[in-house]
Amino acid sequence: MSGDTILALESIRKAFGTTVTADGVSLDFRRGEFFTLLGPSGSGKSTILRMIAGLEQPDAGRILLDGADITRTQPWTRGLGMVFQQYANFPHMTVAENVAYGLRRAGMSKAKVAARVDELLTLVGLSGFQGRRVTQLSGGEQQRVAIARALAPKPKILLLDEPLSALDEKIRREMQDELRRIQQATGTTFIYVTHDQEEALTMSDRIAVLNRGQCVQCDAPEKIFRRPRTRFVARFFRGCN
Ligand code: ADP
Ligand code: MG
Repeated sequence: MSGDTILALESIRKAFGTTVTADGVSLDFRRGEFFTLLGPSGSGKSTILRMIAGLEQPDAGRILLDGADITRTQPWTRGLGMVFQQYANFPHMTVAENVAYGLRRAGMSKAKVAARVDELLTLVGLSGFQGRRVTQLSGGEQQRVAIARALAPKPKILLLDEPLSALDEKIRREMQDELRRIQQATGTTFIYVTHDQEEALTMSDRIAVLNRGQCVQCDAPEKIFRRPRTRFVARFFRGCN
């Protein structure tokens, strides 16, 4: 983790009708870190991620990527990748075709695409899966394909919205280790959304705890756990060890 800021949110506000979903959120994300947005359901995590991705527009505030204001730019110009809870793979395509999809569209040669696909599948632990249909894979394997696909164009940041919450307990734990390993192997900045305290504590370099659209604490996991700044944070981590 080198420590300089790759992305900054400055006083971001977003409301849907009378529901204030982001209530003046300011956050700095460091290049190469595993950063987690943690909070209960409805605290505004997905909305923040969607604003970073450009899928929602903030009502006020600015988003800076490498110092450039991207608040009003189109999603596809931002150079970010995204992984959702429901692995959004193309069901009629093979694993290799899924991972290759964005690369072919970007005009990469067939030979280069094949080499990159092999490299990505090895990275996510799916070497030899090139010709398999994604619909025949397990949930964990499908999520690995989605991660490989999102990493294929070498995004500046990978945004992950509860990517493991649909998986059963044992696979989820396995995938936690895998995600951390993939993040470190690629050096990609990860912004990870979860409502699971244990998951946040074990995976992250830093955690921002959200409550009702506000960031109530942003710190390293051990600091948040040992020195919660508010009663909400202390309660939220009760029972973790
Ligand atoms: P989280 O991901 O932490 O569960 P969300 O960002 O999805 O939280 O939602 C935060 C709040 O904003 C919730 O009360 C939700 O109902 C509301 N919200 C989110 N998206 C919309 C939308 N498109 N229209 C109306 N309300 C929304
Ligand atoms: Mg959500």
